[in-house]
Amino acid sequence: MHRRTGPAATLWPVTESHRPFLPRTTPLLRLGPATLQVGGVDGDPGVRLGPLAPGLPAVLVALLRGLDGGRSARVVLAEAVAAGLDPDAVDDVLRALQRCGRLLEVSPEDLLAAAHTPAVRARADLELPAALAAAGPGSWRLRRASTVVVEGATRVGVPLAAMLAASGVGRVHVRDRGTVTAADTVVGGLTAADEGRPRSLAAADAVRRVAPEADLRPPPPGTAPHLLVLTRPWAALDPVHAGLHGARVPHLVATVRGEVGVVGPLVVPGRTGCLRCGEMTRTAADPGWPELSAQLHEPPAARSGPPAAPATGSTGVCTATAVTALTQALAHLDGQASPTCTDAVLELRVPDLLPVRRTWPAHPGCSCGVLPAGVPGPSRHDRRAPGTLEG
Ligand SMILES: [Zn+2]
Repeated sequence: MHRRTGPAATLWPVTESHRPFLPRTTPLLRLGPATLQVGGVDGDPGVRLGPLAPGLPAVLVALLRGLDGGRSARVVLAEAVAAGLDPDAVDDVLRALQRCGRLLEVSPEDLLAAAHTPAVRARADLELPAALAAAGPGSWRLRRASTVVVEGATRVGVPLAAMLAASGVGRVHVRDRGTVTAADTVVGGLTAADEGRPRSLAAADAVRRVAPEADLRPPPPGTAPHLLVLTRPWAALDPVHAGLHGARVPHLVATVRGEVGVVGPLVVPGRTGCLRCGEMTRTAADPGWPELSAQLHEPPAARSGPPAAPATGSTGVCTATAVTALTQALAHLDGQASPTCTDAVLELRVPDLLPVRRTWPAHPGCSCGVLPAGVPGPSRHDRRAPGTLEG
């Protein structure tokens, strides 16, 4: 019945616990009177069904559009039989869609986490498919329960915070004690009208504009976020962040240095290399690096307050950096085993802004004690760290 499929996948059994979900954005296309194509455009996998008996394409379209994750596979089949469809044929269609990756699976917990209000559900319907396709059932619930702190209301940090909240992250807090300047305006972030306002308040407004349901408060006292994003230029070198590793807070660099967008490394203390590993690797390649890097950031003693967040990078570089950081942050929050910038950085340069991956391995001499990839040791890719501070 089906003629074209993508890579094989593990098939779900027809039980009460499996809830098939076909994103409503999936194209359902007619090819003549007797053939129906599901997906299969823009290089995506798809399935072509046919030849179908007269009237069957319309019935199948209704069946497929009803796969909203709200019913188990068993109920879907029972309803199909009640509508006069051959259960074996329907099962064949569902399995073909699953094999090619078009049919996702959603858990009841995912649906509960998506259904606060009609407006929230309408936005979640657009975000759910990407989360489920990337990390499977349960990933949406994880994302909704996540807390992210963005350190720095920068031209990368604020758009990133807004996108994280709009993508379903439940709690997003932007930390910055400075004041907005005219140069901070960026698409999706701070506006010209924010000039002179406290940066943290202006950033919260930017997040609220696209995700009014998001919790904007900092993590409760004594708890750590599931991820902290460092968005200030030269963030990887800032000694202010040295305590993150000791506190076992997963952290991600997402910044623009000069005109280069830099995303990564993603540091999961105890499981990946740390920022110091990267510095040691760089120093091994260039013994002059420590002297150079020391001139690239202000020593803490020279600061009168919290570190400044100078605006840097063009709109394109900042926005592309924020989007790239979004993908890596969500991969970590959704529980993916090894996001792309684990032990690596992604660099984005004009004119194309296509991410280029540079390996940033754990250094065997670093005090963090993580072994380089390939060296036997404890698992490096467990799920995300718990959100509680030690000590
Ligand atoms: Zn290290």
